[in-house]
Amino acid sequence: MALPNRKRSKSRKGVKQYQYRLKKNNLSKCSSCKKSIKPHCICPFCGCYNKKEIVAQKTKAKKGKK
Ligand SMILES: [Zn+2]
Repeated sequence: MALPNRKRSKSRKGVKQYQYRLKKNNLSKCSSCKKSIKPHCICPFCGCYNKKEIVAQKTKAKKGKK
């Protein structure tokens, strides 16, 4: 089984984690409500993906029943 040659020192570990924390999450905009959302995911605000409504929102469903 492959093993690391050396123990990673505390400072080396810190440098690596600092670089990792610098990266920001990439966000894309929803095509219908223009809010920032995760890319390649259904919008949690309006339930749309690629301008089509895929998930019916709970608020809309409640209004329709009443
Ligand atoms: Zn949306």
